[in-house]
Amino acid sequence: MPAEADERPGGADVAGSGGAEAAALRRDVAAACRILAAKGLVSGILGHVSARWGEGMLLRCRGPRERGLMASVPEDVRQLSLGGDAVDDVEGWAVPNEHPIHGELYRARPEVGAVVHAHPRSALLCGLARLRPVACFGAFDIPAMRLALGGVPVYPRAVLISRAELARDMVVAMAGRPACILYGHGITVVGATVAQATVTAVALDRLLGVTVELAQLGAHPARVPDADLAELPDLGPAFNEGLAWQALLAELGEA
Ligand SMILES: [Zn+2]
Repeated sequence: MPAEADERPGGADVAGSGGAEAAALRRDVAAACRILAAKGLVSGILGHVSARWGEGMLLRCRGPRERGLMASVPEDVRQLSLGGDAVDDVEGWAVPNEHPIHGELYRARPEVGAVVHAHPRSALLCGLARLRPVACFGAFDIPAMRLALGGVPVYPRAVLISRAELARDMVVAMAGRPACILYGHGITVVGATVAQATVTAVALDRLLGVTVELAQLGAHPARVPDADLAELPDLGPAFNEGLAWQALLAELGEA
């Protein structure tokens, strides 16, 4: 677990308000941003992660010493209302234009505890080429296969989702699923926790990457038969979130 906040004089107080629980969430959100950058789901400053916090949210904002998502620190994660207004001191930090993606998902879906918005190339290509992922593999990658099996909806507009009205349309297009493709733009992924949303976003990128490669090969594999799907275990949250999240942190050298 990264500990940037605790290494500074004043500990969690430097990172912002909310006590130890908020400080831990800020560390998770910052780590999620670094993971997305390391895995190529975001580049530069494009993309953001949030966690639900009280009546509002903790959202990765752009800081006074901004060096991109790869260099995210807990201090970059600021406390906002669901409407995107500052709750703690955000002087020096810029709230992302697309904050309504986060606020409107928390308003509409009580089960959502974290939101990832990223711009992976795999999602761009799938959207533009009108490719829809098929659950054509099984044990190779069960979390990615389950995303395909349940369907990955597409929000059809290539706009910057900078208004609540647009974000509400995206929430409708998402239809209660954990992830959706934003046509000509990127992805939005939700989870109960920052770990779950991040692990799901990385699985979605793998699924969409395979989908693009299959199209390049001219291959159209069939869906895995029900009899084979029935043999695949539900690995459960301990595996899907806990171990996979620890492995992603380890790849950053932070486990
Ligand atoms: Zn975006």
